[in-house]
Amino acid sequence: TAPVMTIDGPGGAGKGTISRLIAERLGWHLLDSGALYRLTALAAGKHDVALDDEAALAEVAANLDVVFLAEGGATTVLLEGSDATTAIRTEQVGDAASRVAALPAVRQALLQRQRDFQNPPGLVADGRDMGTVVFIDAPLKIFLTASAQERAHRRHLQLREAGVDASLSSLLKEIQARDARDMQRSVAPLKPADDAITLDTTRLTIPEVVNRLTELLAE
Ligand code: C5P
Repeated sequence: TAPVMTIDGPGGAGKGTISRLIAERLGWHLLDSGALYRLTALAAGKHDVALDDEAALAEVAANLDVVFLAEGGATTVLLEGSDATTAIRTEQVGDAASRVAALPAVRQALLQRQRDFQNPPGLVADGRDMGTVVFIDAPLKIFLTASAQERAHRRHLQLREAGVDASLSSLLKEIQARDARDMQRSVAPLKPADDAITLDTTRLTIPEVVNRLTELLAE
């Protein structure tokens, strides 16, 4: 089977960007597992499924009709044939995703779909439980963190580039609420795997993180 590098950590630590750059550099596949939870939340909205109806949400997750189209550096996400690339990135969908992600039946329904991404020559898997649950035997597990302040700051800049002026303090509150929900849930809570290497990116640039992780992979 193909090697897997898992990159877990809290929201806003840069996992998405870093995972994509490493996958590109290695020519490996990329799994954005958060997108699957976001897509489940979005599909539930489309089909009028309540965010606390665990059995119905697990059905939605199991039957998710999704295609990831990788072209150049970007990935287009199709949900039931229509482009959902930007729709899954809103705060609202992120919040709903973290609610559905707390339901064991939903996580179970997405397990095999995530493992199916493990193909030669290798996989970079980005999420919360890649190293603790989904790819427990991965030879290299990374836990990427940054202070909540720094993550709020990065999100602020990102939004400003997109022309959205969100307050730093409200972003910090959202990040702390999401962290709490991800860490305190009973299934697959966010935490480093016992054999994970933790990297704090608070004072590191993106190229520095990519270089460090590439070095670790070569070791
Ligand atoms: O990483 P992203 O912000 O896209 O993930 C959205 C939500 O999905 C997270 O807040 C988390 O609750 C959930 N998630 C998860 N397990 C993963 C990936 C994401 O529970 N492997």
